[in-house]
Amino acid sequence: MHEMSVALAMIEQVEQAARADGAHGVTHVRLEIGELAGVVPEALAFCFELACAGTALEGAELITRTVPGTARCAGCRTTWEVGMPPQLLCPHCNDAAGDLVSGRELRICEVGLADAPPAARERTRASINEES
Ligand SMILES: [Zn+2]
Repeated sequence: MHEMSVALAMIEQVEQAARADGAHGVTHVRLEIGELAGVVPEALAFCFELACAGTALEGAELITRTVPGTARCAGCRTTWEVGMPPQLLCPHCNDAAGDLVSGRELRICEVGLADAPPAARERTRASINEES
């Protein structure tokens, strides 16, 4: 499944960022998915949850935003939403030389990092309570 390889690549990137930061966990990942990226958000969310088990991302929330596909005509500079299936001819002059401006992205916009795992925080709190 295509979404599983996307999820695995994403988890690897986020884990590297978390390690570089010295974080102990990840609370959430915000992702932009282009309409034409060939990724089904629901399928990706499902694979993400499966693939997160046992990694620094376990329990992290995946927040996705769909980016509509847009194209711009090289001739008349008209910009339009290409939709699905993609309409790549300029609706204004029928020119086929349009450039895709957006819709292919698969971008991690934000990663929420946790300082310490919840269990460690609980232990700290418990020991403070004992002393007081
Ligand atoms: Zn045009």
